[in-house]
Amino acid sequence: TYLCLTGLNGLNWYRPLKLQHVLDLKARHPDAKLVVGNTEVGIEMRLKRMEYRALIYIAHIPELNQLSLNDEGMEIGAAVKLSELMKVLQTVSGKRPLYETSSCRALIEQIKWFAGTQIRNAASIGGNICTASPISDLNPLWMAAGAKFCIIDGKGNIRTCLAEKFFLGYRKVDMASSEILHSVFLPWNKQYEFVKEFKQAHRRDDDIAIVNAGMRVLFEQRDTKWVISDASIVYGGVAPVPLFAYKTKLFLIGKTWSKELMQDALEVLQEDIVLKENAPGGMVEFRKSLTLSFFFKFFLWVCHHID
Ligand code: FAD
Repeated sequence: TYLCLTGLNGLNWYRPLKLQHVLDLKARHPDAKLVVGNTEVGIEMRLKRMEYRALIYIAHIPELNQLSLNDEGMEIGAAVKLSELMKVLQTVSGKRPLYETSSCRALIEQIKWFAGTQIRNAASIGGNICTASPISDLNPLWMAAGAKFCIIDGKGNIRTCLAEKFFLGYRKVDMASSEILHSVFLPWNKQYEFVKEFKQAHRRDDDIAIVNAGMRVLFEQRDTKWVISDASIVYGGVAPVPLFAYKTKLFLIGKTWSKELMQDALEVLQEDIVLKENAPGGMVEFRKSLTLSFFFKFFLWVCHHID
């Protein structure tokens, strides 16, 4: 029913063509790695000498390659490649009302600086999410944008998990060994909602971030004032998981967007994002100042857009 190749060292490489076969294989080999672009698994096996007994190539599964739109948002199959997602996001951003695609445009900008062309052509969004790297360029953005992850189990049942709740610890996610990521649901933005991406790396092109972030703010009109009704500020590269600045979110809600607010929010952010002197990755002062300067940039960018 599906192709299986066995290597000299007993490694099995499976190439199922149906989703049910992936789930059956996963039930039989709970430790199996799923592979699409192999840009994470390949590095783990060749450079980190990790030994896997079973690899399941899922790039041909139709359900995992779907990209569909509805009134609420966009569903992106877990095996969709970054380049393909980029093209669809560009098309969608040209067609839908501008305000609805703020998250789409932030994703486009972030994918532009994600690795190089070859990696973007092979790497999948599911591979990036499930690897749960603390410095993933996209995970802070999925979280900030309010995306939901759709997870399927061996029986074919689908449950959803907010991206915000998915990352539990260092490379640990809310997914059992019998489950796989099916798709990502990205909601359209509301009117007066703004989403922006940030990434600072040593080089602009093809480099891993030092710190990255995804930020979102939603305004509503109360009397004559524009008040913040929701916000998410999420950083990558400052903790074992993408870090959601909850205190800052609570601080922002109910206030108006002003220079004073920005200054006070920077104080709260420093309580939210605590980097110890000996934090892995080093450059602690630089990383701290990046978290603040990203928020400052976001403040200015939003000012420009609500004018
Ligand atoms: P694979 O290696 O095929 O799989 C990765 C992991 O995800 C495996 O453990 C697999 O079991 C799991 N997995 C895959 N799909 C599913 C699923 N549907 N359900 C459950 N588990 C699943 N990352 C960044 O964020 N930013 C960068 O700028 C960046 N640059 C890079 C540059 C280079 C040179 C390289 C080699 C990597 C870079 N990466 C970067 C990391 C990597 O490219 C991404 O994380 C990529 O999206 C992984 O996708 P993949 O399809 O290649 O994953």
